Amino acid sequence: MKYPISTLLFVLTGFSMLWSADQATLETITLPIRVLRLQSDADERLHCSMSDEEIREQFVTVNQTWDQAKIVWEIESIVDIEAAKPKAFAEAMKNPRGRLANALASNVSKKYLLKGGFNAVFAEDYEKSMGGVFIPQQQGLVFYAKKGPKGIQTPAVLAHELGHALGLPHTIFEKGNNLMMGSGPERVPTPTKPITASQIKIARAIAKTEKPFSPKQIRTPSNDSEKLWKLFDVNGDGVMTISEVAKRHQPFVVDFLRKASRAPDDILTRKDYDFIQGLQRQGQQPQRRPGQGGGQPAGRAWGPQIVPLIFSRFDKDGNDIITREEASNPGSLVNEYFDKWDNETDQNGQLTKDEITERLTAEPAVQGALRRQGR
Ligand SMILES: [Zn+2]
Repeated sequence: MKYPISTLLFVLTGFSMLWSADQATLETITLPIRVLRLQSDADERLHCSMSDEEIREQFVTVNQTWDQAKIVWEIESIVDIEAAKPKAFAEAMKNPRGRLANALASNVSKKYLLKGGFNAVFAEDYEKSMGGVFIPQQQGLVFYAKKGPKGIQTPAVLAHELGHALGLPHTIFEKGNNLMMGSGPERVPTPTKPITASQIKIARAIAKTEKPFSPKQIRTPSNDSEKLWKLFDVNGDGVMTISEVAKRHQPFVVDFLRKASRAPDDILTRKDYDFIQGLQRQGQQPQRRPGQGGGQPAGRAWGPQIVPLIFSRFDKDGNDIITREEASNPGSLVNEYFDKWDNETDQNGQLTKDEITERLTAEPAVQGALRRQGR
């Protein structure tokens, strides 16, 4: 069968127009960002050796990711600054957890900042502790380093931190190699990353304010999960849309949605709501490390509420079973606990939802706890 070439062309252009219709209607938002290149004789980890050109190359790749949202990061200037408190940094690096962000911020004198705008501070190497970080409490600074935790760095890390600066949290529902994936087996170190339509809406709303995202304290209308849902789903059809929510509760709902990477005009099902609530409850329960009677604050202790998240991340083929292979991501909670849980259940080399739920109900899991016990 033969079609005239003109028909074929029409089909092709028609198709590609459809494909890019959403993006084409978006107006480009250009965001000036100042790069502060740390310099230090005292600590080479704070002495960034990247040239201007290398820094600009990083932003070229960052902008390939952000082009999906029609957001352009434009370097306002690259300024060399002397690290103000290298000793505080060195001290924090000995035990970085919970300390490093403040120590880093203390190294940046406020007089160098692009006031009220976006600032990215480049260092050399945070070693294993991290690739980058966004600190909303400190003028919304983004920190990045030439070297990544495994020696290699990817501009995707910078693009990710800038995502936090535009109000995006780590993903809950998104799969694959999403930009805001905190961790997970599907995360691969590609230089550019996909973002969802909802993430684009959230990020663009903050980008339009032309300053970094700053979390607001919004009082919850109710601590009772059931009552709260009734304020969300006023018409009782099991699905929330923002238009049905009372005006006075809308700011809370919008922020609730944002934390789940949902835009204000997205719908929320009861199932998704329960899932988010389960995760939030979990995050609010600081628990002690097993075997430590002292008052040391622990990492999070995960209970059965985490099971849906575990399956959304690890059950790649969606058969409600996690195999040893699916759980093999180093550093993950499931990888760490897999053998223990399997030994404590039917020892068949795989874990079902019921098995993991049962084990987490009997004994919450804490990441790193088994390693600390020398297993
Ligand atoms: Zn992050």
